[in-house]
Amino acid sequence: MSSQPFDPPTAPPTPGRLATFRVQLGERPRPLTAGLAALTGFSFPAFQFGRRCFCCSADTHGETVDYDASTDRHRIPTIPVPVCAACKPHAKASNIAIEAGVPFLMASLAGVALAIMYLRERPEDSFLWGMLAVCSLLSMGIAAWFWATHRRNKELAHAGHHADFSILVGSGVISFITTNRKFADELVTLNPGAKLL
Ligand SMILES: [Zn+2]
Ligand SMILES: [Zn+2]
Repeated sequence: MSSQPFDPPTAPPTPGRLATFRVQLGERPRPLTAGLAALTGFSFPAFQFGRRCFCCSADTHGETVDYDASTDRHRIPTIPVPVCAACKPHAKASNIAIEAGVPFLMASLAGVALAIMYLRERPEDSFLWGMLAVCSLLSMGIAAWFWATHRRNKELAHAGHHADFSILVGSGVISFITTNRKFADELVTLNPGAKLL
């Protein structure tokens, strides 16, 4: 193991929206290669992580969390990603973005609108009142969750943490998405051929 020094977490120079870095290994396949891949089975380039925590950049001392990069089309064995013990409770290694909650918010708001619309015609309909209550609570719950997540990420970013990390796997290509520049640079150094996009 290299005895490279690990720097303490540093807050981003400009608070606010953090830049996102994408480290890509491999290329999107050409049609011929894609056809071959379909015959020979799904594969993506081999890669390695260092010992730097993806969240705070500190030495992980070998600690990891399992990342499930499977998609609805491909089952992929879990990938251990480096994260230090201190960051484990808040670091979010997942390819489910918070945006995944948006359709649920839209659906529950649509439910509220529909219930109100039909209640004008049938104000005695208890089902519609129930629907209004459930959809209103759901909308408020999701909105509160969005707000809490947003605030949490902002506070963590101020303390030099990059809590969100994603891995996207395609045929012949793997990408790592992070707001942690140090972590992205380390991936490029460790994996010949990796590109910082
Ligand atoms: Zn950490
Ligand atoms: Zn952290």
